[in-house]
Amino acid sequence: MEQTWQCACCGEENETFIDPQGGDNQEFVEDCPVCCRPNVITARYNPHAQRYDLSTYQEDVG
Ligand SMILES: [Zn+2]
Repeated sequence: MEQTWQCACCGEENETFIDPQGGDNQEFVEDCPVCCRPNVITARYNPHAQRYDLSTYQEDVG
């Protein structure tokens, strides 16, 4: 399903596709198309909203 995530670096909202077959808890890395920084995206399925709740952080901290 298409979901929106917010870049942890520049704040841009981007879209990504999450495959529900991958499970209720997923973590993957996606490069922001605006600032090209890698973001680690953690997706947790929310059965009430029937969507994933996404949180992001920058991969290369430090
Ligand atoms: Zn960005």
